[in-house]
Amino acid sequence: MNAHTYDQQAIWRDIAVSLQEIFGENAYRGWLKSLRFEEDLGGKVVLSVPTPFIRDWIQARYLSKLLACWQEKSPDVHAIDVIVNDAVPVLTDEPTQAPFMMPDVEARKAPLNDHTAGLDPRFTFENFVVGKPNELAYAAARRVAETDQVNFNPLFLYGGVGLGKTHLMHAVAWHLHIHRKDRKVIYMSAEKFMYQFIRALRNKNIIDFREYFRSVDVLMIDDVQFISGKESTQEEFFHTFNSLVDQKKQIILSADKSPSEMQGIEERMRSRLGWGLVADIHPTSYELRLGILQSKVEKLDVTIPAEVLEFLAYKITSNIRELEGALNRILAHVTLVGGKVSLETTQQVLKDLLRANERHVTIEDIQRQVAEHFNVRTSDMHSPKRLRCVARPRQVAMYLSKQLTTRSLPEIGKKFGGRDHTTVMHAVKKIEELKLGDISLRNDIDLLSRILSN
Ligand code: ADP
Ligand code: MG
Repeated sequence: MNAHTYDQQAIWRDIAVSLQEIFGENAYRGWLKSLRFEEDLGGKVVLSVPTPFIRDWIQARYLSKLLACWQEKSPDVHAIDVIVNDAVPVLTDEPTQAPFMMPDVEARKAPLNDHTAGLDPRFTFENFVVGKPNELAYAAARRVAETDQVNFNPLFLYGGVGLGKTHLMHAVAWHLHIHRKDRKVIYMSAEKFMYQFIRALRNKNIIDFREYFRSVDVLMIDDVQFISGKESTQEEFFHTFNSLVDQKKQIILSADKSPSEMQGIEERMRSRLGWGLVADIHPTSYELRLGILQSKVEKLDVTIPAEVLEFLAYKITSNIRELEGALNRILAHVTLVGGKVSLETTQQVLKDLLRANERHVTIEDIQRQVAEHFNVRTSDMHSPKRLRCVARPRQVAMYLSKQLTTRSLPEIGKKFGGRDHTTVMHAVKKIEELKLGDISLRNDIDLLSRILSN
């Protein structure tokens, strides 16, 4: 295909609609939303943003990935230029001018506590479905939102992606916004905190910056793992943190790991982070996933057969964001194509997603399951023992490893006490042979592979 048959502007329109999906909500809303297409210079495309800060930030953090996405659609593009175009509206949630950036008196009259701009209206306590995996985090967040006393400081919420950390923090902010308008609340991602800090440094506004952050009643910083390894930001954050704790102001933090597991964090910081209440959000359970789906469907006032919801709750186990994404895709399909939602259409519409959520069985899983089934120890799988009563189960495990994983024979041998690949090959052949004549062995293997593939 001739390089010039690509319509780069059309490609940009394609990419633009999936930016949020590719880079995540924070990056999108904080930075990427204001990107505009300028021109195609043949091999190089030019995008624009409204300010130099946004440009620098995008260049430093998102450009290479953006280029890679672009090249997937149009391999002839070898560079993306980001330029500043003042005419482009600022479309990020970054307040165009943060209060500490505005020395003039007029600007300072802007209410400091109206920070609802960056808050997702759907992320309220009412919309949060509580289950075993998140009940502690939920209860703690509610308590913080409803009482003036600072009982635990900080409240540290942690858990994997898409499990509801940001939702809970926004819920606290909404609650305070509605019930306690007098309290100054700041919610911000750690990434944005760092950006504000760097900008304040550059503009020699650091005193205002400090005053701004230290004058709040509730400070929420999301995804603090972002500042690990970033020393000066950490230092600044540490001081803000301490000063707020001293003033008995509430701090809520979130991260993908507990303070003790976070890497690249100074020791004194780590210990401070764990001072208050550390509440983890566990991976979702089937019941919670189903509950969330049911509550969404109810709110949207659409009917989806129970078996479809159950199927989704059973299959999409990674996180809630993906679960919502799956549901939205089905709803979109129904709106666009019409017709009833069935299990079949669901499977068809979500083919790729379902594949990604398939559980991958590991050799360790196989060894554990086989050992349990034949009443031998898992350690016998690695041991040099040649007794038939352990050697046979071991051969079954090798056979299943070959069948159910993509591992090579040498890799499998290694996991079985460093055996040679020819030993594995022999085991596979042996079991294949035995299966032909031995019904009970065949049943054992069928049963095991069914359990393991589920
Ligand atoms: P995290 O910040 O932990 O990565 P989010 O808070 O952004 O995750 O949650 C991802 C999505 O899942 C959001 O749309 C959120 O509303 C939804 N969600 C998470 N937990 C719940 C819950 N318990 N009930 C309802 N929706 C939830
Ligand atoms: Mg989040």
